[in-house]
Amino acid sequence: MNGKMTAAVLYGKEDLKIEKVPIPRVGDGEVLVKVQVALTCGTDLKVYQRGYHARMIVPPALFGHELAGVIEEVGTGVNGFKKGMRVVALNSAPCQMCFYCSKHQENLCEDLLFNNGAYAEYIRVPKRIVEANMLIIPPNVTVEEAAMTEPLACVLRGLHETGVEIGDTVTILGVCASRSRHRLQRDFCGQARRPSGSGQTHGRARDYPNHKSAQRSRSGTRSFTAEAWMRCSG
Ligand SMILES: [Zn+2]
Ligand SMILES: [Zn+2]
Repeated sequence: MNGKMTAAVLYGKEDLKIEKVPIPRVGDGEVLVKVQVALTCGTDLKVYQRGYHARMIVPPALFGHELAGVIEEVGTGVNGFKKGMRVVALNSAPCQMCFYCSKHQENLCEDLLFNNGAYAEYIRVPKRIVEANMLIIPPNVTVEEAAMTEPLACVLRGLHETGVEIGDTVTILGVCASRSRHRLQRDFCGQARRPSGSGQTHGRARDYPNHKSAQRSRSGTRSFTAEAWMRCSG
């Protein structure tokens, strides 16, 4: 697809410009998505304020990384996707070959491939993300909801790692930047009763008996001990 599109281009610290740039050309295994929803997460804000992200984006570069949209074009060799499909393309994909990937710790992948450019009319999705981390949006899910797949995945992993279960008591500290995260935690709290705290991203309080959140919980009006916590401020 030829022509130009409007896109946000990050040049450095608090230096973001709306420009006309060429519509990306798709290569083998790649997909061009017409962006319908693009989110702003805490990482976008940090990158904007700092002007870079060591691994994720090096300016000048197209900006934004959480999106959902409709496939406009597919490259040769793409299987399972075709023009007109609603999809959510995540912003990264692991190599599946390095030490960490072999240990199912793909978030620590030594060759994590990132994709940026959600704040644009179109975005090219690289082959590795198409194959590993691009999903068809079911009919009952809106593009707005689907765009939150990546932050929601972070929430689910965090919950999984705390080991909290239905019936536990949870205290949520901090105001979430991510709506999905907040809603999920709120919904979870509706069923669970186990205190959690902040300071660590997440964890079991029994492993951190001197953690301030565990102490704070113990000194509260109810006497319970934090068994797990998640930091919910970012
Ligand atoms: Zn994000
Ligand atoms: Zn890897």
